[in-house]
Amino acid sequence: MNDFETLAARVDGTVIRPGDDGYDGERVGYQLAGPHRPELIVAAVSASDVRAAVEYAGAHGLPVAVQATGHGMPADATGGLLISTRRMTGLSVDAGSRTAWVEAGVRWAEVVQEAARHGLAPLNGSYPGVGAVSYTLGGGVGLLARRYGNAADRVRRVEVVTADAALRTVTPDTDPDLFWALRGGRGNFGVVTGMEIELVPVDTIYGGGLYFDTDLAAEALRTFREWSAGVPDEMTSSIALMPFPDVPQIPEVFRGRHVAHIRIAYAGDPAEGERLVAPLRALGPRLIDTVETMPYAKSATIHNEPDQPMAYRSSHVLLNELSAESVQAVLDLTGPGAPERAIVEVRHLGGALAAAPAIPSAVGHRGAQYLIGVLTKLEPSETPGAPEPVHGAFADVMKPWATGGRHLNFLFGDNATEEQVRAAYEPEDYRRLAELKAVYDPRDMFRLTHHIRPAAS
Ligand SMILES: Cc1cc2nc3c(=O)[nH]c(=O)nc-3n(C[C@H](O)[C@H](O)[C@H](O)COP(=O)(O)OP(=O)(O)OC[C@H]3O[C@@H](n4cnc5c(N)ncnc54)[C@H](O)[C@@H]3O)c2cc1C
Repeated sequence: MNDFETLAARVDGTVIRPGDDGYDGERVGYQLAGPHRPELIVAAVSASDVRAAVEYAGAHGLPVAVQATGHGMPADATGGLLISTRRMTGLSVDAGSRTAWVEAGVRWAEVVQEAARHGLAPLNGSYPGVGAVSYTLGGGVGLLARRYGNAADRVRRVEVVTADAALRTVTPDTDPDLFWALRGGRGNFGVVTGMEIELVPVDTIYGGGLYFDTDLAAEALRTFREWSAGVPDEMTSSIALMPFPDVPQIPEVFRGRHVAHIRIAYAGDPAEGERLVAPLRALGPRLIDTVETMPYAKSATIHNEPDQPMAYRSSHVLLNELSAESVQAVLDLTGPGAPERAIVEVRHLGGALAAAPAIPSAVGHRGAQYLIGVLTKLEPSETPGAPEPVHGAFADVMKPWATGGRHLNFLFGDNATEEQVRAAYEPEDYRRLAELKAVYDPRDMFRLTHHIRPAAS
């Protein structure tokens, strides 16, 4: 048997090469712009498969990429070995210790439902189809973020296959450096096969979406700016301004309109939540208003993001405050009636996100109060193509207010450059990550990711 046949015989999952059935289905995830073109895919079903794949890659000098659902891949990774984890779906909840064991391919939707059976909730994000492990390794700014903080800070144990193909159980006691680096450093230190995460005692929230029509959209953003600066940590919220084309595929209520969608997740007394939301409702009539007391199991309806894979480009900056001038600048660039068409999203950070974690992690820029970004849809293609002007213009107009930092989880596709990845960390943390990369991945096997280069020895 040659090495390839040995690998194929060793894994319980599937080994796929270009031209084989299932190659495209396995490599293409949610983000359709610039999917990976690996020379080999191991569709893993277990940690043992992941070990075999990493060992093979090491022996053949291949870089390794990892993909769960493909929402957050950097663009255009060519060659190498792709480990697809989507079949690693083991999930269990321990209600007594308020924890869940989550394998690498589990999506938030499953964790939310399983945790809800015990009156608990994970620190999941806005979209239920995103992989729980990748999201958490990137920091994880969730629906309850201002109340409970970064998802990465609530990890208790990680199982990871490192570049030497060893399967390690990593805790703050066994490997404090690696435990720190994995939580925030994401795919740079190995392939995480599963992790134990904390759950929080939330079964009901006051939440949903307020949708305002074109004539109120700019005012909704201005009001959100003032309102969000004064809300308590139990309130996590965001706003999106979305220009909808006038085409039959769009629901009639949104068709041809520039809609403002304010998203609310209040983890406290519903009556207080209703009182807090009142100034937003006072803006005027809503196209749709779904904000009410809801089981957390229905929290995916808050952002109500589309579940069709698509090609997109996004860019964002972090802000220490959301000034009236910065809001006006973004409205002038791409608000209702402005020349550029893009989705604008503002997420309110701060609260518990800013607190020092019980066990330090590599997650950066905890002091940022807002994340503001623009997103444009692209034509699905093998290469993302030239950046549209709105992204460059957005970076320019936000310069006076931007901190210079980025959030790793919001660097997708062709925006996930090494420079942008570096900007996701505090400078001293980035140096430490690069030094640890040289220890745990000296040959830079895990480079087809949000890449941190090993420090030169
Ligand atoms: C619609 C949408 C909504 C989102 N909402 C939020 C949100 O509310 N909050 C938030 O914080 N983020 C959010 N994100 C960002 C999202 O959390 C990240 O993009 C996340 O990485 C996506 O998970 P995935 O399973 O699709 O990862 P993939 O795209 O499959 O992988 C992304 C990267 O993660 C690494 N990776 C994946 N699996 C492993 C593993 N097992 N071990 C080591 N590294 C691994 C790889 O290096 C890979 O390049 C959103 C993204 C989208 C598209």
